[in-house]
Amino acid sequence: MQTELLTPTGEHIAQAAALIRDGQLVAFPTETVYGLGANALDADAVRAIFAAKGRPADNPLIMHICDPAQLDGLVTVPGRARALMDAFWPGPLTILMPRTDRVPDVVTAGLSTVAVRFPSHPVARALLVESRVPVAAPSANRSGRPSPTTAAHVLEDMDGRIPMILDGGPCEVGLESTVLDLSGDVPCILRPGGVTKGMLEELLGPVEVAPSVLKPLAEGEVARSPGMRYRHYAPKGSITLVSGAEEDVLRAMRRLWQDASRGGQRACVLCFREHTDALRDCRPHDLGSMRDPSETAERLFDTLRRLDAEGMDVIYSEVLPAEGIGLAVMNRLGRAASFRTVRAADVLSDNSGSV
Ligand code: AMP
Ligand code: MG
Repeated sequence: MQTELLTPTGEHIAQAAALIRDGQLVAFPTETVYGLGANALDADAVRAIFAAKGRPADNPLIMHICDPAQLDGLVTVPGRARALMDAFWPGPLTILMPRTDRVPDVVTAGLSTVAVRFPSHPVARALLVESRVPVAAPSANRSGRPSPTTAAHVLEDMDGRIPMILDGGPCEVGLESTVLDLSGDVPCILRPGGVTKGMLEELLGPVEVAPSVLKPLAEGEVARSPGMRYRHYAPKGSITLVSGAEEDVLRAMRRLWQDASRGGQRACVLCFREHTDALRDCRPHDLGSMRDPSETAERLFDTLRRLDAEGMDVIYSEVLPAEGIGLAVMNRLGRAASFRTVRAADVLSDNSGSV
């Protein structure tokens, strides 16, 4: 199949909407990451998403809408969801809602809830309006790869597998939406994203964060969000996070990089822009300014993709405080590193190193 990469003109969006109505797949930009969309009410079309991505069938999809009225007959909107929808839609917030059987099982992997989102990106909205159906769309990457934040990333993963990619330029948030579960007494963030815990708490009062956001699932623990079971966002090389006081982290990263390089491995560091000069000999990759975590969010997946393209074996990364959008960054970076962390002070006190 030939994959067309098109600018999102009115004519191309109309073509894309016609493909969606015809049961085919279209990749499109959203404010979070690029999505791979199909008519959510057409089970065969949704199955094609799983095939194109190589996604496990038990990992459910998000259903995208452009008007809450589209939910009539498909879901029961939880009481607490109304205020959230008013405050954060359109935007990067996904809310789990009990569904009716008009939503095909394949969308929800058989779960009784469906994840719903109203994106704010003008191209996504125009496509949803013209398609006139809810659109099931996971991130438009091959399963296990970092989510795409540019049309070029989508093409890397999906060339020949889908008929069309709408190129809306780089995504503004750069990380996937916040996934919120309202079924318990206390609302629970299953996946942190652009709508932060603090923003939700202003409206809802206390909000929990699922434990698996910042650590691996314990053996036998059941994931509240099936996506958490899977190794995600993992580059081929192995990432280790280095935590501690700023000066210690820089010295420790340099030592770790030198040891790995002397051992014959292709090594690099991920560091804040303020530190690229201090680490200039260690193949620094710029995570953005340490004063602007939203810039780190925006750049992270592109950086992770570069590690593979450059054939890195070993990567050492700085960390940022897990608060605000930093929680979403540390969730993705942590998972990319399989949550492997060393303390800089421990590295520096270990005299077995050769530096
Ligand atoms: P993606 O489409 O790649 O952004 O992934 C969607 C995320 O939402 C995955 O982590 C899913 O496991 C999660 N998700 C989707 N639907 C549900 C649901 N009904 N219950 C819990 N988690 C869900
Ligand atoms: Mg995904």
